[in-house]
Order: sequence, then structure tokens, then C-alpha cells
Amino acid sequence: MPKLLRELYACRLCWNVTVAVFAFILAVESVLLVPSAQRFERVELERLAARAEIAIESVLAAGRGLADEAALARDLSAVAGRREIESIALFRPDGSFAAAAGANPASHLPEGVGTLDDMAHRIERTEDGSRLTVAWRSQAPGAPAIVARLESGHVSSELLAYTLRIAGLVAIIVLVVTAGTMLVLHAWVLRPLLRLHHSAMEAAADPDRAPEFAVPSRRRDEIGQLLRAYNGMLERVAESKRRDREIAEERARYLSHHDVLTGLPNRAALLEFLDRRREPGNAGAGRVTLYLVNIVQFRLLNAGLGPRRGDELLRRFARRLQRAAEPGDFVAHLGADRFAVARAGESGGNAAAEFAERIVRETGDAYELEGSGRMSVSVRVGIAHGQGEGLDGEELLGQAELALGRARAEEGSEYQFFSPQLAEEARTRQSLIRDLERALEAGELFPVLQPRLSLEPDGATKLAGAEALLRWRHPVRGMVSPGEFIPLAEATGLIVPVGEFVLHAACRQIRAWLDRYGWSPSIAVNLSARQFTLPDLEQRLEFALGEHRVPVELLEVEVTETAAMRNVARSAETLAALRSLGVRVSIDDFGTGYSSLNYLRRFAVDAIKIDKSFVDDIGADRHAEAICEAILRLGQSLGTKVIAEGVENERQAAFLRRRNCDEAQGFLFGKPLPVEEFERVWIAARATA
Ligand code: C2E
Ligand code: CA
Ligand code: CA
Repeated sequence: MPKLLRELYACRLCWNVTVAVFAFILAVESVLLVPSAQRFERVELERLAARAEIAIESVLAAGRGLADEAALARDLSAVAGRREIESIALFRPDGSFAAAAGANPASHLPEGVGTLDDMAHRIERTEDGSRLTVAWRSQAPGAPAIVARLESGHVSSELLAYTLRIAGLVAIIVLVVTAGTMLVLHAWVLRPLLRLHHSAMEAAADPDRAPEFAVPSRRRDEIGQLLRAYNGMLERVAESKRRDREIAEERARYLSHHDVLTGLPNRAALLEFLDRRREPGNAGAGRVTLYLVNIVQFRLLNAGLGPRRGDELLRRFARRLQRAAEPGDFVAHLGADRFAVARAGESGGNAAAEFAERIVRETGDAYELEGSGRMSVSVRVGIAHGQGEGLDGEELLGQAELALGRARAEEGSEYQFFSPQLAEEARTRQSLIRDLERALEAGELFPVLQPRLSLEPDGATKLAGAEALLRWRHPVRGMVSPGEFIPLAEATGLIVPVGEFVLHAACRQIRAWLDRYGWSPSIAVNLSARQFTLPDLEQRLEFALGEHRVPVELLEVEVTETAAMRNVARSAETLAALRSLGVRVSIDDFGTGYSSLNYLRRFAVDAIKIDKSFVDDIGADRHAEAICEAILRLGQSLGTKVIAEGVENERQAAFLRRRNCDEAQGFLFGKPLPVEEFERVWIAARATA
């Protein structure tokens, strides 16, 4: 009950309706009350007048009328003062005053009445309502006119009482009607409205569960219709929410499982596919072959094409790869230049090789890209087999990655199969990388020096310098060849601190010999591709020279032809900068790269080193000899010194000397030696000589 009252009290709608009803009833009752009060008053006054008339007439009827005026006056005096009759005045038929009784009687006929003939019955009331004047023609003999003054004040109080009675009644009715209205409003309107409001708030807070907040109703009126419409709307809200979510989920799933650029499934999707195949109950469980497809040098291609055409190339590549695949194959795009095809079922080595060849053939073919003419791409494929439950998507992908790495590393191999040996190599590589990280600090790395000699025309040789070559004495593996660990250091970036170490070791050695013997051969250090492109290479060299107080002409650097050719314009700048610093520069392994005369002309270098592979074949291969001759002539025409490396026998030395090769390096003249030995053989001996 208090709750009901509280609700009603708080309900503005109820208040509004109630006040309106109240006001309306009040207005209606007031309109009705005015005429009824007026009628009440009129009737009361008439009744008063009638009573007085009857009393006076009966007195007149009993006497002899105007004939005996003295008796009449007496009789009238008996009436006047009784009841409400204050005074009585009688007038003769000619209108003249005849007799009077009581206090303050009228002395003439009412205004406007000339003779008794035109005197009608009339009642007049004084302004303040306290007196009533009644005038009429009597039925009595002589027919006098009578003007009686009556006391009428009590009529006003009766009227007031009457009005109050009616007003009280109205108030009771209004109260009852209002209370009834409120109760009806509460039950029929307020309660459903409150429930609707509550439900709407809940549904808004949790639209997914909107139908749970429905407001059931069996009512057939408008409120019932509203509630049913509202419940329907809740259903639709939840439904549309669910659909929105489904669409969003679908989209998120698509995006998380597809590559946006090519629209192909992505790495996550491929892994899911592979994992599904290992579930034993699955229809597709069993053997699967994964082909990891790579566009060689895609980053360079992309840089050349620009991002828009690069993307177009990838899209077309994706379409061709899909065409090369068969229905049921799973084609994915794992990242910029990496694609994959997973094929279910048995596919022996031959079938797999054929499919890999087909991929290479169909995806590598010429592409016509807008504004860049025809171009073809070279493609490499790594292949790995997986089987049933033993197959883990990530692992299989890793195996295919290793196979791909081998395919990329090996000249002329477009595809490679994974083999346990590859995994073993990868493990070795990993552990070497880990070991290399601490080798420098553990003092396991040290440089050896190999002499370089000038070939004098008279057959003599003279020490022309030394090359610093790095060695690694591994605590478990023993000596590790730089051919093995330098590429690892290069790939991981470790080459930068390692190269710095060699540079400082070389400078320190020069300083030591200068201090000890007053002279030192120049020492050449090898710069890897990564070191060569360091933006502060010049400062690093300058710093090392300054730190060990080494004359700049005693330091040389060697850069491989391949490294220098990677970015010709930048290399030309770097080489010029090194040259102007005073450091001598050689191009290493010359003949194995582009060997372009044009480029070489732009490079400011002091020497070119004929690659060992050509020197090896001197005396055995005319072709190699021709290359050596061509390089020698090239150097002479550019005014650049030519150094032959890997000279192992007299025959090679004689060949080179005959063709005016400036300097040579090789086991024939001296092997790379630890610094102390080098000092003993090449420095100290000369000092004592
Ligand atoms: P490279 O710069 O071409 O060095 C010449 C290589 O040929 C050296 O191998 C040297 O020992 C070897 N050699 C010299 N004369 C003969 C010969 O008559 N017969 C034979 N069979 N070999 C000869 P090494 O020391 O194993 O170095 C291999 C490569 O490792 C070097 O080739 C160089 O590219 C790289 N490397 C070595 N030390 C460093 C270094 O400190 N920094 C950088 N960046 N690379 C280095
Ligand atoms: Ca070298
Ligand atoms: Ca070399």
C-alpha cells in the first residue's frame, strides 16, 4: 500500500490527470451551482412574500376594511411586528394613503404607479437584501392597495447555508472521483508504464538479452497494443544485434585468416588447415605436402616497381599460383614474398618435384605491369612432407622454410626437399650463432696475417703488405672457418662489432711494429657488405687510426665486388670518401660479380684482386687464363693495381709475372700466420738483415 501511494505521489501523469479532473468537476459544479442558488433565493423570497400576503389579507377579510379605518389600523398593528412583517401601509383605490401600521411604513405607492388600476403585484428587495417590499391589490372590500415591508435578512443566511451544503457535497464527490481516477490510472496506465520504463532501461543496457525484458500483457486496449508492439521491437533489437555481431565476427574471422592484399588465406589459416589434418578422425587426415614458394629478391623488385605495381605483381602472382594448384589444394599468402601450397594425399618425390616445377614455370613467367614493360620473376620452392598425427603445422612450415633456404642459397636449384640433414645444419647454425655472440668477449676470435708480395720484373718478390684474416678457435669445435662463421655474423649483424675488432687489432699491430721496428707493412682488413654500408664507416676508420696513431697509408680495406655493386651510386660515394681520407681500397673477389668496366670506372679504388677461382685454373683452363688476362689489362687501362690471390704454384706466379701483375698473395708466398709468427718471418728477419 505505501508503495502504491509512493508511486502515485511520484507519478506526474497521475497528478496532471487528477488535477485536470478536479478542475473540470469544480468548473462544472460551479456552473450548475449559480442558477440553482439564484432559484433557491427567489423561491425563498416569494415564499416569504406569500406568507405575509396571506396574513394581511386574512386580517383585511375579517374586518370591515377601509370603512372602519380605526379598527383596521388596530388589526394591522396586531399583524405588523409579527413574524417578518415590519410595516404595512394601505392606500385607497384612488391611490391616497389610508392607514399604516408598524415601524416606518411606506407613505406612497411604489414609484411609477399612478392609480391602483395599473398596479400589478410586485416584489422589490433593498440593495443590502435586508428588506423586501411587497405591493399588491387586495381582494378585500374596497380593494385597497397594500405595501408591506418585510424583514428578509434571514434569506441570505439560508442561501449561504444552502451553497455551503452543495459545495461540501461537491468536494466529497471530487475527492471520491479523484481517488478513483488515481487508482484506475495506477492500475491501467501507471503500472504498465513503469514496467515499460524499467524494461526499456534494462534492454538498453543489455540489448543482446532484450527479449528477456519483454512486458507480457493480455490487455486488448491501446496499452496492450503498445506493449505487444514494444515486445516485438525487443525481439528485433536482439535479432539485429545478433546479426551485427555475426557479421562483425565473420569479418574479423575473414580478416584474421586472409591476406588483405591478395585475398588468399594467411599464415594462421594455413596452420589451422595443417592442424585439422592431424586430427585422426578427420576425413582429410593423413599425408600432406607443403610447398613454400618465394619470389627471389622481391624487396628489390618492389623498390624498383614502387608499392602500387609491387602490390599488383603480388596479386597476379597469387592468381597464377592458384591456377597452378588443383582443386582441394590450400593456397596461402604468408607475407610479402612468401606463398604456400598445401596438398593432401600421397605425393611421392617425383610428383612433388613435378608440381614444384609447375609452380616455378607458371608463376615465374613474364608479367606485363602497367608502365614497366614485361618482366619475369625467379621463384624458389621449399618442399616438406608431413604425416598424420606426427605433423605439426609450425614444424612443417619450419621444415619447408629450411628447404626453401637451401633452394635460395644453391645456384641453379629452383626447389629443394627438406631433409633431416638440413635440420641438423640449421641447428648447428643456430648454436654457432649463439656461440659467436660470446666468442668475441671470450677472446676466441683473433686475426692472422697473410703476406702480399710485389712481383718484381727480375723475378724477385718483396713484401707489399699483409691481409688480416679472422680466426675462431671454438672451445669444442676447434678452428671454425671464416667461410662458415662470417656469413652468420653478416646475417645477424654481429659482423659490425667483429669487424671493428679486426680493424682495431690491425691498427694496434701496426702501432706495435712501428714502435718496435720503426716500420710496418700496411695491413688490409676485409669489410663485409654490412660494414661497408654503415653510415659512419669513415668516422669509425678515422677513429681507429687516431686511437692507435697509425699513418693512414698503412691501412687498407677490401670490399667484395658483389658488395660494392649492390648500390653503385652509394658505393661510389663511400669509396670516394674513403679514398679522400687516404685509406687504400681494393675490390676483392673481382670477376665473380658483374665485373662491369663502366661501374669500375666510377669507383675510386687503388687495387682489384683477381678472385682465387681464376688463379686456381691458370695452366689448366684457357678460359680462366683469358679472364685473368682481361682483368689485368682492365686494371692497367684504369691505372689500378692488380693483385692475384690464391697463388699456389710457380706456374701461376710465372703466368702472372709475365703479364705484369703487380702483386700476388697465396700459399706459394706465405700462408696466413698468427701475428707472432708473421712478425718472426716477415718483420724481424728483415730488421736484422
Ligand atoms: P678473402 O678475403 O678472399 O680471403 C682470402 C682467402 O683465401 C682466405 O681464406 C685465405 O686464407 C685464402 N687463401 C689465401 N691464399 C691461398 C692459397 O694459396 N690457397 C688457398 N687454398 N687459399 C688461400 P680465409 O681466411 O678462410 O677467409 C675466407 C674469407 O672469409 C675471406 O676471403 C673473407 O671474405 C672472409 N673473411 C676472413 N676474415 C674476415 C674479416 O676479418 N672480415 C670480413 N668481413 N671477412 C673476413
Ligand atoms: Ca680479402
Ligand atoms: Ca678474395
